[in-house]
Amino acid sequence: MAGTPGRDELLSAYRPALVTVYGRLGHASAYAIRDFLHRCDVPFEWVPLGSDEDAREQAEVEHLRDERLPVCVFPDGTRMEAPTIRQLTERLGWFRNPSRTEYDLAIYGAGPAGLSAAVYAASDGLSTVLVERWAFGGQAGSTSRIENYLGFPEGISGTGLAERARAQAEKFGVEILLAREGVGAELQPGRGVGVLEDGTKIVARASICATGVTYRCLGLPNEAQLLGAGLYYGAGASVAPLTAGEHVVIVGGGNSAGQAAMHFAPHAQRVSVAVRGDSLKSTCSHYLVQRIENTPSIEVLTHTEVVALHGEKTLRGITLRHTATGKELCVPTRWLFVCIGGEPQTQWASAIGMARDEAGYLVTGRDLLRDGARPPGWPLDREPYFLETNIPGMFAAGDVRHGAVRRCASAVGEGAMAVAFVHRVLDGC
Ligand SMILES: Cc1cc2nc3c(=O)[nH]c(=O)nc-3n(C[C@H](O)[C@H](O)[C@H](O)COP(=O)(O)OP(=O)(O)OC[C@H]3O[C@@H](n4cnc5c(N)ncnc54)[C@H](O)[C@@H]3O)c2cc1C
Repeated sequence: MAGTPGRDELLSAYRPALVTVYGRLGHASAYAIRDFLHRCDVPFEWVPLGSDEDAREQAEVEHLRDERLPVCVFPDGTRMEAPTIRQLTERLGWFRNPSRTEYDLAIYGAGPAGLSAAVYAASDGLSTVLVERWAFGGQAGSTSRIENYLGFPEGISGTGLAERARAQAEKFGVEILLAREGVGAELQPGRGVGVLEDGTKIVARASICATGVTYRCLGLPNEAQLLGAGLYYGAGASVAPLTAGEHVVIVGGGNSAGQAAMHFAPHAQRVSVAVRGDSLKSTCSHYLVQRIENTPSIEVLTHTEVVALHGEKTLRGITLRHTATGKELCVPTRWLFVCIGGEPQTQWASAIGMARDEAGYLVTGRDLLRDGARPPGWPLDREPYFLETNIPGMFAAGDVRHGAVRRCASAVGEGAMAVAFVHRVLDGC
């Protein structure tokens, strides 16, 4: 990385806009780029193109459907056509390979749990690498306001919290590998080896899996095709202003759906929240239910599910079905946000014999014991530590863990706690 400007240097040198993004609304790649930049707290200007003429004049491409869109232009004139996220991170100087042949600790996932583990580990002097497949903040990074995190009485945006944690981790010397995905693991005596998507291997004496959950989808036929083109998972923190004057539909009855509704209400003309149950009250925090009830532009559609998505390249509408009467209603909309929770992506874990529960969450600590007996094949003369998996020295923290409390504060707490046990492992205890 020698000669490459640091992230903070770059950001402060180029505020307000470090990159200008030209693209059309409803284009999945343009959404992915905006979401990535927003979540990494990179100041950018979004120029939506509305016609072929716009495309020619502003983005210097032939027409609105030109495959070179979206185009990213940097202040020094560098132009990138239809860049991938990896290419963007390379251009921003953030794409790295591991600098060491071995680390004390490798952490996978830069959500609240992984960022917290990274800060505590590096501040304790451990050589630490943090691997993140997308952007900082995880699920928390997708929410516009976390109101119940200790110490922020006015609330804090997920991006704001993640950005502070990122700065803190870098201050203590954590090596961050962004836009890199852990896809497998290998075991060596006393070492764990993480395998990234391009075959890069990371060797560490201990590791923490903090990969959280990945959004659950609706399971409708054309869902993948419309992802990022009108259909979004999570609260879409980066796109709220783009919904001005439009009808937004949110699916889900939990806090994430409730927060999303409040986030869009000041912008959208109307926000409909589709829930399967008979109210939000049993699934959503009391304070959110009250706010939603007091916001005239939000309506809650109970006993309702989405059964069809309409549109080929971009979402044009959806069909809602009332689960009690079976009555269907076609709703024109360009904005559908799916907030129905998530699932852990831990298929790699079973390949190395790591214990998972039926839903795929990683089993740790005393949950591994059966009638007080240690897990089969456990090689040590002690029980697994709290947060330790059935493979010594490999820990799990946050939402990916069986029995986790799905909150930012608990993920942060588990990240910190896991590091305390990592020390014991590294000390040979
Ligand atoms: C919209 C929304 C609003 C919420 N609001 C609140 C709230 O107000 N208060 C509250 O307490 N909680 C809230 N939560 C819950 C809270 O955000 C989660 O409990 C918390 O983010 C869990 O943190 P985590 O680090 O365990 O996992 P995650 O946040 O899921 O982060 C996991 C990270 O791992 C990365 N990753 C996954 N797989 C890999 C891989 N193979 N290689 C590398 N990286 C990988 C992901 O990209 C992600 O960045 C909200 C959740 C959502 C979705």
